[in-house]
Amino acid sequence: MLCYGLRTDFQAELFPGSAALLGIADALIELKAVCECGRKSSMNLRVDEQGNAVKAGAQTEIGGNDRYVALCRKHFMEKMG
Ligand SMILES: [Zn+2]
Repeated sequence: MLCYGLRTDFQAELFPGSAALLGIADALIELKAVCECGRKSSMNLRVDEQGNAVKAGAQTEIGGNDRYVALCRKHFMEKMG
């Protein structure tokens, strides 16, 4: 069986489904995304309409690609303050 999805939410917390899948996975294949600085991005920053970091809210929020930015850990932590 093959599953695909995000590992963590905009607060760097595992999704319950991701946690369960990681627990039983035989192999994990990371798809590479790139941060604005060129490093590998591993975090998903949620942003508002003005592009400011959203630090609290529901774990899932359906929106377009303009509501999330893929960042490396360093830049995610900077934006989350
Ligand atoms: Zn970066």
